[in-house]
Amino acid sequence: VVVVVGSVNADLVVALERIPRAGETLTASGLERRQGGKGGNQAAAAARLGGDVRFVGRVGDDAEGAAARAALEDDGVDCAALLPTAGEPTGTALVLLEGDGENAIAVVPGANARLSPDDVAGALAPLPGEHVVVLACLEVPVETVHAAARAARQRGWGFVLNPAPAQPLPAELLALVDVLTPNEHELGLLSPGGAPALLEAGVGAVVVTRGAAGADVVTAQGQEHHDAYAVAGGPVDTTGAGDAFSGTLAWALAAQRPLGDAVEQACAAGALATRAVGARAALATAAEVESVLRR
Ligand code: ADP
Repeated sequence: VVVVVGSVNADLVVALERIPRAGETLTASGLERRQGGKGGNQAAAAARLGGDVRFVGRVGDDAEGAAARAALEDDGVDCAALLPTAGEPTGTALVLLEGDGENAIAVVPGANARLSPDDVAGALAPLPGEHVVVLACLEVPVETVHAAARAARQRGWGFVLNPAPAQPLPAELLALVDVLTPNEHELGLLSPGGAPALLEAGVGAVVVTRGAAGADVVTAQGQEHHDAYAVAGGPVDTTGAGDAFSGTLAWALAAQRPLGDAVEQACAAGALATRAVGARAALATAAEVESVLRR
């Protein structure tokens, strides 16, 4: 079982020739609504692979929240603990997308900011025993992530943290993380001392994702590099590759795969996720991951 404690966003993607400057008004060439939020994307990735995935999160009591729930349920995610929240909008990301692929993003946390330690306790308490991996991101309050980490440790479950968007984390939280999955940029913000300092703080393993350069696994045993998988025809949109990576890693760990194998599967799924525009448009099935794996 993979339990995703995370965010749900309604993404409004606005296509423009260029990103407007302060005070400037430009006419956009298009508008797309997409399902987003790191948590939602991660849960969708794990469920598309065939995992038993439970989502713990909050949406507004609004049409966007209903649409977000329906999309996750369509992907097979159990949304019993996706709670409607009065008085807050569903999280929203306003994405300004330039012709050349540059973007500027404003995120309204909305209901995501209301996900509480009590919500997590209530959602995790009834879950039965074994082979559970909890996956969290930082688009929900850090106290809530901390509560999820504590609950996971208490019950002997795995805890994977995707530290995005990056922020400095309390040492007591780091000590509860089994696997941390920053990209290179997040690693820099999180830890001036790099991966070794995080291991020192008690993180079990740091898996640094490096886009088209693959991923590095850093543990007390040393460092192991995993090359990226080539994407046939080249990547179309790398948005959400990291979410597919973390969701897949949690799924593979919940299936009792050793970390090196799980990272290999995550690299394959991250590459496959870049085949189409949108974070959830090209998420891989287990058969697709299996068919491209090198080992
Ligand atoms: P994020 O989206 O969080 O910045 P990355 O860009 O590092 O994360 O992508 C996560 C993983 O997805 C990488 O480690 C890699 O395995 C895979 N990936 C991402 N971009 C590409 C790409 N252009 N080609 C092949 N694999 C990719």
